[in-house]
Amino acid sequence: MNVILFGPPAAGKGTQAKRLVEARGLVQLSTGDMLRAAIAAGTPLGRTVEALIQRGDLVSDEIVTALVEESLPAAEAGGGAIFDGFPRTLPQAIALDGIISRRRSHIHRVLQLKVDNDVLLDRVSKRFAESGRPDDNPVSFKVRLEIYDRQTAPLLTYYGRSGKLMEIDGMASVDAVGASIRRALVS
Ligand code: ADP
Repeated sequence: MNVILFGPPAAGKGTQAKRLVEARGLVQLSTGDMLRAAIAAGTPLGRTVEALIQRGDLVSDEIVTALVEESLPAAEAGGGAIFDGFPRTLPQAIALDGIISRRRSHIHRVLQLKVDNDVLLDRVSKRFAESGRPDDNPVSFKVRLEIYDRQTAPLLTYYGRSGKLMEIDGMASVDAVGASIRRALVS
């Protein structure tokens, strides 16, 4: 089973993806984690994307699509992929459809974590204080939210047409959100 976790930055996609890894044996494909690993390892890719990520801008569609295409076979062999933070633009969604259909595979569900902006801002300012993730600073976070509204949220129309989209209340407790996701995956 392949699942897309969809939602604004700091909606809880990573937290819930990790729970699905534990509970369902799925494999998390987080483009953000992959890019941060490249930065930490000092690879050429990491050096290319570091400043841009810190500002809150998007990495190019070609780069993130290649990362996903490379890791999808192992994820599907491992039980299925949870796409976390991908796709974020219409070209990424179209590319993912191509990759998936060439593999004669499917996206089973697109789960939209809904969280109000004031809650997101509150969460991320706490996360910034704790983890110091550079792109969680208030200026970059504002850029990330604007990019989400402009480039990512429109994908809801795209996935809405597929009949696979389900809304999840992302403002409930972590356990309650996890329970809603489990229910969505069996329905
Ligand atoms: P969050 O979900 O908290 O916004 P991520 O860890 O998913 O954060 O992503 C962090 C940053 O990595 C993004 O702001 C962006 O710069 C880059 N990135 C991650 N995934 C993508 C993607 N699919 N397309 C373009 N850039 C991406």
